[in-house]
Amino acid sequence: MLAQRTRLFASSGTAAARAAAKAASDAGKEVIDLTAGEIWSDLAPSIREGALAAIERGENRYTDTVGLRELREALAAKVSRETGQVWHTDEIAVTSGAKQALFNAAMVLLDPGDEVIIPSPYWTTFPAQVLIAGGRPVHVDTRASGFVPRPQELERAITPKTRAIVINTPSNPTGAVYDQITLEHIANLAIRHDLWIIFDECYGAFAHAPHVHHPIVSLVPEVRSRTVIINAYSKTLALTGWRIGYMAGPKSVIDAAKALQSHTTSNPNVIAQHAVLEHLQRGDGSYERRLSDQLAQARRLGLDILSRQTLAPLPSAQGGFYFYLDLGSLLDIGPGSATPRSADDAVNALLAEAGVAGVSGSAFGDHMGLRLSYGITHDKLALGLERLVETFESWTKASRNVA
Ligand code: PLP
Repeated sequence: MLAQRTRLFASSGTAAARAAAKAASDAGKEVIDLTAGEIWSDLAPSIREGALAAIERGENRYTDTVGLRELREALAAKVSRETGQVWHTDEIAVTSGAKQALFNAAMVLLDPGDEVIIPSPYWTTFPAQVLIAGGRPVHVDTRASGFVPRPQELERAITPKTRAIVINTPSNPTGAVYDQITLEHIANLAIRHDLWIIFDECYGAFAHAPHVHHPIVSLVPEVRSRTVIINAYSKTLALTGWRIGYMAGPKSVIDAAKALQSHTTSNPNVIAQHAVLEHLQRGDGSYERRLSDQLAQARRLGLDILSRQTLAPLPSAQGGFYFYLDLGSLLDIGPGSATPRSADDAVNALLAEAGVAGVSGSAFGDHMGLRLSYGITHDKLALGLERLVETFESWTKASRNVA
């Protein structure tokens, strides 16, 4: 008999999509997998060297629960540069990926019954962690406003029980980059209603020009005392498997997170910590520039191919590395057609008919969305999207014939 708590969550929808792609591939189908929340890339040389040197030195032992002091110092300097404010080492905790930083934040900020506003479509882990922490996710639909919430709609969702708001910019899955004015409104709302802001900027390094990523505390410094910044090297350095993330926030939050982490995972992997430290001390930015260029090229290539289909509007893909398509037009197709009528059906049909795997928006609270990752090699991306365009066009034609 399992605990009641297990009814609050299921394995994430993105993991399920990856598993479906793998099962099809294991069954002998040639699959182009566009489900991945990670970037295909070589290791940054400084990361490789930092890790090897740490192994050679025999760095085998526990570190401080929330990370090596030198690493927290380097991260405090990084956050200071990015926000234009001075951050101290005791305002930083190193975590096993951004996921742990978010989990720490939910566990130390929420009481049972507290409501947390999460704009939707949302990354699937946000509501899951709020539920695990005993809170209640409250979603604000952003589909009619370019995937950026309207401040007045956020304000309407606030009740006396609201404790926090989750902001993820650039957004997974939608690729939206929040503009400066919206962020200022959100910051002021949080101050007026005494809310925490959980500010996930894991994709902050990938805002595609002319869009710019703004850390919310740099726009409204007074919001800093109620903001927890969440970030990681998973995306920025294509290091998903190394599990290094961090949270930056008021010392009281970091102290509580440290106590919690001391009873859960203790410190993140020591070799990975040394590798990231080496990168922060010696990296010259060239690896990051190469990664950004690679993604910018993939984005252009992908948008060019996607512009040849007529089923879904061209996604704006302002940041991150996802195309988020609105398949709402499938709903207009009359009865009698074999064409899919929902994103779930479309994802299954794409895998079966075209060997292309994507993630259905139902994983993100949007039953008509489709997320396609462009973090893979350009040749695979082109092949996958060309097949997708062909399949979409065949659906469009079939639906016209039925009509
Ligand atoms: N936050 C967002 C918005 C993400 O998309 C992800 C991963 O996909 C994470 C956090 C978790 O990142 P990590 O792998 O560092 O735990």
